[in-house]
Amino acid sequence: MKLRIDDIKEGGFDVNADSTVNPWLQTVFTDVFGTEKFTEEDGGRLNLQLFRDDKNVTIIGGAIIKFHPNCDRCLTNFSKQQQIPIHLILAPVYLKKGKRAESNTEDEDFGYYENDEIDIENVVREQMILMQQMVNICRESCKGLCPTCGKNLNDGPCKCKKKEEIVSPFAVLKKRPLKKSKT
Ligand SMILES: [Zn+2]
Ligand SMILES: [Zn+2]
Repeated sequence: MKLRIDDIKEGGFDVNADSTVNPWLQTVFTDVFGTEKFTEEDGGRLNLQLFRDDKNVTIIGGAIIKFHPNCDRCLTNFSKQQQIPIHLILAPVYLKKGKRAESNTEDEDFGYYENDEIDIENVVREQMILMQQMVNICRESCKGLCPTCGKNLNDGPCKCKKKEEIVSPFAVLKKRPLKKSKT
């Protein structure tokens, strides 16, 4: 979805999209997350307002997405709803060299557009890629995986842990006679 700079009038320009209605948004989400993390039951909405100040364009708004990330602790695929605030300033790409000289604008929230048009798909795609770096935890109390055997500890303790907990009082007792028999 591309927007001509000239279409942004004084009152701004609204972009409202829903992945269930707008296939391009569906495509962006599926491209970024893949169909395992953005399943058929998932969806997302986008609400943006664009304002123009001469050649600079400010984009304010956000997206809300329901998707299926993998938990960073236990690796389980789970359903999550996430809000992504978007606040960007875009300048025409021909100003890039001049801006670099100032070297003050290496901001994530600063970008460029080409050919007098703004590619909304690219804007959303970049925000989603940034969002992928966020931490996803299936629940606050997630116990994660056992570092030794890899078992999901949310499903109950693994054998490594049982050994420590249950066998340890006996292990002390067992060690002694073994040592004695050796000497
Ligand atoms: Zn988890
Ligand atoms: Zn274990």
